[in-house]
Amino acid sequence: MEINIFQMYPDLLNLYGDLGNVTCLKKRCEWLGIQANIVNFSINQEVSLQEGDIFFIGGGSDRGQSLIYSHLQKYKKQLEELIDENKVFLAICGGYQLLGNKYIDAEGNEMPGLEIFDYETKSEEGRLIGNIITENTLGLKPDTLVGFENHGGRTYHDLQPLGKVISGYGNNGKDEKEGMVYKNCIGTYLHGPLLPKNPHLADYLILKALERKYEIKSLDKLDDKIEYSAHEKVIKLYSPR
Ligand code: GLN
Repeated sequence: MEINIFQMYPDLLNLYGDLGNVTCLKKRCEWLGIQANIVNFSINQEVSLQEGDIFFIGGGSDRGQSLIYSHLQKYKKQLEELIDENKVFLAICGGYQLLGNKYIDAEGNEMPGLEIFDYETKSEEGRLIGNIITENTLGLKPDTLVGFENHGGRTYHDLQPLGKVISGYGNNGKDEKEGMVYKNCIGTYLHGPLLPKNPHLADYLILKALERKYEIKSLDKLDDKIEYSAHEKVIKLYSPR
């Protein structure tokens, strides 16, 4: 079995080591005996998106974001179709914001998004920074997701969230929602080592890609003692008392 992981704009969207999540997917595939090919897609490095099984879009500074926002517009329809065909997407922070209608930065400049989902993000005073714990809505065990967030943008929507906030801010610091899920497309504000600290989410993404391509229904269990000790540590340190 073989999957292609498209790393979108690795030169412009890689805040807090977000690309480590792609390394994590590749490594887990290797341990599971699945060939994973990493394909880079960027400005002046465009390749056909049709071959992708998993698409990873990391977070970016407002500058990086504005560069790719205009570039990606010509792929809008294609990306929308790929999401509808159940391809797997993981979009972090700036990447997550991009899938909505627009992002309005701290100076009030508007960047049109891909309008795939009906939400917008507005930067407000005071960044939402820190460790975060949520309860996932995907039915994964353990039911928690842990991570780190750092965003000025506030996103509001009525879609299925990825998690219910237990501790931290999430989409906007108000409605206790974190991220979004639509088919196999996940948006989230959880930066950095999201997948290494949440191996159940990593395997969920791999399984969804394999299910679609090869009708595989389950994955072998890996030894995730170290990964879950990191997961547990975040819960121990940052759970509300
Ligand atoms: N510029 C966006 C914000 O601050 C996204 C930044 C990021 O990806 N961390 O909301």
